[in-house]
Amino acid sequence: MHFDTLAIHAGQKPDSATGALATPIYQTSTYAQDAPNVHKGFDYSRANNPTRKALEDNLAALEGVPYGVAFSSGLAAISAIMNLFKSGDHVVAANDMYGGTYRQFRQLYEKYGIAFDFVDASNADAIQAAMRQNTRLVWIETPSNPLLKITDIKAAADVAHANRALLAVDSTLATPYLQRPAELGADLVHHSTTKYLNGHGDVIGGAVLVKDKDLFEQLRFWQKSVGSVPSPMDCYLVLRGVKTLSLRMDRHNQNAQAVAEFLQAHPSVKRVIYPGLESHPHHALAQKQMSGFSGMIAVELNASFEQSMVFASGLKLFTLAEDLGGVRSLVCHPASMTHASVPREERLKNGFSDELIRLSVGIEDGRDLIADLKTGLDRL
Ligand SMILES: *Cc1c(COP(=O)(O)O)cnc(C)c1O
Repeated sequence: MHFDTLAIHAGQKPDSATGALATPIYQTSTYAQDAPNVHKGFDYSRANNPTRKALEDNLAALEGVPYGVAFSSGLAAISAIMNLFKSGDHVVAANDMYGGTYRQFRQLYEKYGIAFDFVDASNADAIQAAMRQNTRLVWIETPSNPLLKITDIKAAADVAHANRALLAVDSTLATPYLQRPAELGADLVHHSTTKYLNGHGDVIGGAVLVKDKDLFEQLRFWQKSVGSVPSPMDCYLVLRGVKTLSLRMDRHNQNAQAVAEFLQAHPSVKRVIYPGLESHPHHALAQKQMSGFSGMIAVELNASFEQSMVFASGLKLFTLAEDLGGVRSLVCHPASMTHASVPREERLKNGFSDELIRLSVGIEDGRDLIADLKTGLDRL
């Protein structure tokens, strides 16, 4: 079946008890058993819940893999992946990634004896050069946040597998509609469902999608043992969001392309980073690996730091806020907001300046978004 059909049908049969067609929100902590340990597959909602199962099966189908495990946040899902490893293991990770992931790696897992090397993952040779005997995982994020670098997933998978390591891809910015890492060799696909998958800015959630049964069982064990589970209500909301994913992504793509082209032509703009622009260094790879360029743009202005902050705070339709991927446009200053836990020297070394502004282009009328940006730029 094709993507849009799966988005609406996968994991979502009519409810067997009542025929309810909308997936019920099974707001229950426990389930009546017929005899000790004789039940209908559900015994306690930390371990399993029908609304959550519908979401897990749905997201797995969209990524083209048999197994999904949903979590209470994207970072909880990442932490489940990291707990597949142990003290003494080594991870090669991309040097441009979501700030919270970086903080988790450096401030939690390093403490437990997992070693990390951060490299420019958009260069497969750099990944290879960092591999060691004890490397168990290659962690990439593509497109990356906030610099929107594109990593060749197949090349990264080949390097990881040649070294008997796993490849995990944080595909949050792409969504399964625009990119399917498992088909390109990834062992673990991660999503913050908070972002495009839910898409309406009213849920925090995460998911890991996998091909391998053994990995699935380990992730399930972690989910049950730690209890980092999403609520039935949140699972219901993400399932609802996914039903319009392709429609929303088409509009995000279209609006972001128009906004990026507008910004690129404006004299007050120094640099626009958007994978859909020919000026983007990985434009050709993005075209090959993705079926659209998504809705995120990074921009630097021909202006002082102070003026850049006035611009980011003064827009009317782009709200200054953390988060991305929702129907409503947002603007963010990554250095002080989403990526404040990345040391300044690290950022600057990787081309992530103090002035960088990130736009999450929503699905409003693109003409209004451009008018809002134009007003802000003309004021500089
Ligand atoms: C937001 C985000 C996360 C973290 O997800 P939460 O749901 O906020 O915990 C991880 N990776 C990327 C790329 C993100 O954008």
